[in-house]
Amino acid sequence: MSTISNETSNKKKLSERERQMQQEVLKRFRSKVSPSLGKLVKESDAVAKQFIPSPYEALEFGTEKPFEEGKNNHGIYGLERIYEDRAVLTPYFECSAYCRYCFKKTRTLGGEAKRMTDENIDAAIAYIGSDARIKTVLITGGDPFIDQELLEQVLVKVAEIPHVRNIRVGTRNILFQPEAITDELAEMIARFNHIDYENPANSRNISVGLSINHKDELTPDVIRAAQRFISRGIIIRGQTVLMKGINDNPQAILELISMFLAVGIVPYYLFHCMPVIGAKHFRTSVQRGIDILNAISRFSGSTAPHYVYVTPIGKHRVGPGHHLEYVEIEGLKYIKATTPYKATDFLEFSDNDKLPPLHEINEDGYVVSYYLDGDDDELEVL
Ligand code: SF4
Repeated sequence: MSTISNETSNKKKLSERERQMQQEVLKRFRSKVSPSLGKLVKESDAVAKQFIPSPYEALEFGTEKPFEEGKNNHGIYGLERIYEDRAVLTPYFECSAYCRYCFKKTRTLGGEAKRMTDENIDAAIAYIGSDARIKTVLITGGDPFIDQELLEQVLVKVAEIPHVRNIRVGTRNILFQPEAITDELAEMIARFNHIDYENPANSRNISVGLSINHKDELTPDVIRAAQRFISRGIIIRGQTVLMKGINDNPQAILELISMFLAVGIVPYYLFHCMPVIGAKHFRTSVQRGIDILNAISRFSGSTAPHYVYVTPIGKHRVGPGHHLEYVEIEGLKYIKATTPYKATDFLEFSDNDKLPPLHEINEDGYVVSYYLDGDDDELEVL
């Protein structure tokens, strides 16, 4: 385990100003840690920083709803679609713990746990079933593994859609509640794998996307829970958020990837930390991630995750060697990029008839986006 050492860890004595700021943060944002995570928070600085409210969250920054929860896409609560070939379902909107770098901590999203109703689910299934271009359904949250009955109800219906070939379940509950990842749950998930040997186009794969940000999160219980899926032939893909003071160096990322591979998890995405409210102190520059991937690229190429930043119109991949173009807007540094997405495609799947702010269309019809960069400065003294 890494040792508790600095500003947002749970053993550092706060200054008077930091204490005041932390009080503000506690009033403004929710905080929740599951029992098994609580133990880990005490042992690991890298984990503590992700879950203990920090005074730095009081710094004015970021948006409360980078992606609107329960966005009424096509009028259907819990359905989202921004890509031609994928749809996202969010059956259950709560998490067992709140990651400080995520917008779930905001009180405006709090209150009673929200979930898709039977009517919402039927409408979403009818929408996906009516468009054969949708080959992948991502079931995310909140955390789909918290309400396992609801998840099964959704999976049964998704599996009835003949053109859906991939179902991906996104979770962090393997870390938050490894005790809830039972053999029964893994059996239930595995039932939705289907191989048609004669006609592979009729096959369907179900996989799990697991968010893990640091090697300290790979505890024996987490590895055991992951093995319940892996031993039943379910692929687990690891996804990681790049965060200042937690994993923003080549050694931390390389060690995490190496441990993923050792326990059978496929390294998949490295996400740049989104401009979420109260998350300024976590955000490195986008270039930092490129530098990290460059530094680890001399090791086996198969280990490198896709490095992406996420905007309202989709993911932007920025691999090793990528050259970033910067522009200044109102004194802030943005990354300008032509995306692989056609504006007409985006608008076809959007409820709006125009692109989100900070996006424009180039002469070839592709969307150009402006993404707020982070920085690699030392944290300012409070
Ligand atoms: S588990 Fe995922 S959705 Fe929930 S708070 Fe953490 S990052 Fe956000």
